[in-house]
Amino acid sequence: MTVRVRFAPSPTGSLHIGNARTALFNWLFARRHDGRFILRIEDTDRERSKPEFEAEILQDLRWLGLRWDEGPDAGGEAGPYRQSERLSAYRAAVDRLLDEGKAYHCFCTPEALEAQRRELLARGFPPRYDRRCRALPSEEVSHRRRAGAAAAVRFVMPPDRIQVLDLVKGDVQFLGSDLDDFVILRADGTPSYNFAAAMDDCRMGVTLVIRGDDHLANTPRQMAVARALGWEPPRFAHVPLIHGADGGPLSKRHGAVTVAEHRAAGILPEGLANYLALLGWSPPPGTNEVMDLPTLSRHFALDRVSRSPARFDAERLAWFNRQHLRRASVERLIEQLGVVATPLTRRAVEVLRRDASGLAAIRESVSALMEEPASPVGGPDYAVLVAARRALAEEPATEAEAGSLLDELGRQLGLPKRAIMHALRGALTGREHGLPVASILYILGGEETRRRLERAIGALPAARGAS
Ligand code: GLU
Repeated sequence: MTVRVRFAPSPTGSLHIGNARTALFNWLFARRHDGRFILRIEDTDRERSKPEFEAEILQDLRWLGLRWDEGPDAGGEAGPYRQSERLSAYRAAVDRLLDEGKAYHCFCTPEALEAQRRELLARGFPPRYDRRCRALPSEEVSHRRRAGAAAAVRFVMPPDRIQVLDLVKGDVQFLGSDLDDFVILRADGTPSYNFAAAMDDCRMGVTLVIRGDDHLANTPRQMAVARALGWEPPRFAHVPLIHGADGGPLSKRHGAVTVAEHRAAGILPEGLANYLALLGWSPPPGTNEVMDLPTLSRHFALDRVSRSPARFDAERLAWFNRQHLRRASVERLIEQLGVVATPLTRRAVEVLRRDASGLAAIRESVSALMEEPASPVGGPDYAVLVAARRALAEEPATEAEAGSLLDELGRQLGLPKRAIMHALRGALTGREHGLPVASILYILGGEETRRRLERAIGALPAARGAS
């Protein structure tokens, strides 16, 4: 049987890294088992779902390198892949359940439900729907419906035991009698999450649902819906959530929590994916932890997913990011930086990635180097610059070669190295601090170096009549 897994985001906000990890685990599992990775957009909440969020989520998944085999844009035999485009199928299934007595109309207003809830709480009971509409005679239901009364549809929750053989949590048992007759179709005609997700997982042939364990409580409801509709539910693997340093679920108060924020902070997609994969999953012993996506997918298995929450550690993420900065090709980094590929930017990236913490720092340094200094700083020495113009006529092929040219210049001028560096850095970059001068010479290249020296010399008072 082909493995079919899905990632089912609700487009009600930016892609949180917890959800990104869920997507990644599903993707890794699909790749590992030569299966299909399905993207399904759960947009039945009309008020909170926005096409902009959907577009952003798709963009973030692509950026992470997670391509889906079936989805709203990719198509596929189990489509449509947007729940808002499947409404007639949900309604038909609800009608079937109504006909079979497995669901019923509920006319309770939100105010009446709230009053019920408060009363139960006050009496020390769990706030559960008291099923009063389940007992309504069918003539009364038809009569109220014909009169145009608003009605939701509730599921008749069978009281039996429901066993979830979870691939991460193990054997988890629920009693249907402890669960609500939950709403499956809202009065506005849209399906509830538990109903739509359960139905789609079956209709789309999903074999395994991998998701955060905040959804574990939904699982018996979804399994009951699937069975009421005559399907065998998929298997489940509930992954513990990601927590912040204080032990609470990761949220905005812990800092950057979306994929977009990490991208803006200069994290490479391969760095983020690598780190997220290891948040809650451990590779087999002896495996190098720094891995690209294909390597991760070769090792990924659910039996090494932890049963306890993972702690998000921004420093460890930064470490993984640095490892990937060193490994990535210069071309890949140029593409991620979004800068124009020129000999100068290529050399800059080659040098800067050695010590940079992230892409943002590289981007900043590259643009500083590309910018011609408005005026040299630090009162450069005229004699040094003129001598440098002559000595640096050669194009240094490496930083080491640029270093030798500088040594030679020092010997010629009989000046301390520091004074020479200071004068050259000021003339070439307009700054007093920064990269080693040998690196600057190498990055700028012979022609650009000479051009900047000419300009600096021309701007000096001593240039008048002397050069
Ligand atoms: N739309 C749900 C969410 O984003 C999907 C949960 C699930 O995977 O079933 O939380």
